[in-house]
Amino acid sequence: MGGYIEPAPIADKENPFESMMSRFKIASELLGLDDEIYNVLKNPAKQVLVSLPITMDDGSIKVFEGYRVIHSNILGPSKGGVRFDPGVNLDEVKALAAWMTWKCAVVDIPYGGGKGGVCCNPREMSAGEIERLMRSYTQSMIEIFGPDRDIPAPDMGTGPREMAWLMDTYSRSQGMTVHSVVTGKPLVMGGSLGRTEATGRGVMVSAMTAMEKLKINPYQAKVAVQGFGNVGSWAAKLMEERGCSIVAVSDISGAYYNANGIDINKAIAYRDNNKGSMEGFTGAEKISGDELLLLEVDVLIPAAKEDVITISNVDKIKAKLIVEGANGPTSAKADNIINDKGIMVAPDILANAGGVTVSYFEWVQNRLGYKWTKERVNRRSDRIMKDAFENVYKVALEYNVSMRIAAYIVAIDKVSKTYKYRGGY
Ligand code: NAD
Repeated sequence: MGGYIEPAPIADKENPFESMMSRFKIASELLGLDDEIYNVLKNPAKQVLVSLPITMDDGSIKVFEGYRVIHSNILGPSKGGVRFDPGVNLDEVKALAAWMTWKCAVVDIPYGGGKGGVCCNPREMSAGEIERLMRSYTQSMIEIFGPDRDIPAPDMGTGPREMAWLMDTYSRSQGMTVHSVVTGKPLVMGGSLGRTEATGRGVMVSAMTAMEKLKINPYQAKVAVQGFGNVGSWAAKLMEERGCSIVAVSDISGAYYNANGIDINKAIAYRDNNKGSMEGFTGAEKISGDELLLLEVDVLIPAAKEDVITISNVDKIKAKLIVEGANGPTSAKADNIINDKGIMVAPDILANAGGVTVSYFEWVQNRLGYKWTKERVNRRSDRIMKDAFENVYKVALEYNVSMRIAAYIVAIDKVSKTYKYRGGY
């Protein structure tokens, strides 16, 4: 093993692919993975790049670049979202696709990892333009997508509306309705109950399980949540219901702190009546977004974006437990300092896997032609999240490594063993 990747440049911000690769490399070495399998898992199985000419509302034709990367289909059909964002590029899509492989393996669902995206700015496009782009993207991926091949889902800039267009375009091409080609659909056309809150719920299950291990009493626990969108607000609400005091939340407008605990239902109602923003919220004192990360709390939940805990602030973090709702919120270089400080991290590929777990349930329900109750969805996803946490925790003790490296070990071990059973040419 060794000598495969260039050392990351000394900079605060890290390339997501390098961040992922550095953890992958550590876990592979600990597992004693041989060079051949390491190379198989390092390289994406398939990378598709398409040009999508779209007629805009003013009659002009604009060409967009679209991507779909299948990192691995060793465990099953690849699974992963489609991102519509001006920052989409091949390196990012490759990293996100690999993360999906590890995430599905950690929670033991029978999927490989994939990711897609189109470099565009949906905020500057009309609904009609977005629809034409989504349908054109789908058409160009007809040979790639499929319920047993590659199953897309929403990601940044896309949601149930776009998934409905994707499902319809795919279904027309097959001459029949195919619900199971995509997840994250509207409820009326085969979406699953419990999907909206699934990621935040999984974050809550991970946090409660970790608190049990650290002997933190939820009724005395103080929690700070960065990002008050889908994941952050559901995690905050469900943890408050279990006795925790959510002393701070933040969004792009800033952070809001109340030592006595914020009333999360009121905060959610405020946000929903205020065009999705917490700006002007009076149930707490306003502090800066950076301060939120450094508060004297028991649990810190980064649930906004990547690279927010870095070598420039990790020294000052006082939380005993970090539960990663976002993908990649901790830079690889901050990992060692976190470990030295004795902070437990429930890593992204474990803690935010509740979303893909319920996406899997959506696909299962579509294939059964049946609908589960919300109680059944929650019960089964809670069990999967709890079992996955316990398994990663056991491996962390066995190898004497962090929960993050343990999660990679669990994932890489599963995918590499399956690869060996399946064999190659
Ligand atoms: P969202 O768009 O609903 O919410 C994001 C929130 O973060 C918003 O409140 C936004 O204002 C806030 N935010 C953005 N920049 C910020 C900053 N600099 N400081 C503080 N707050 C900031 O998105 P989401 O679906 O909740 O996703 C959040 C994260 O979780 C992303 O990293 C996403 O990839 C990850 N994730 C989401 C899901 C899911 O099912 N939604 C699943 C797995 C992982």
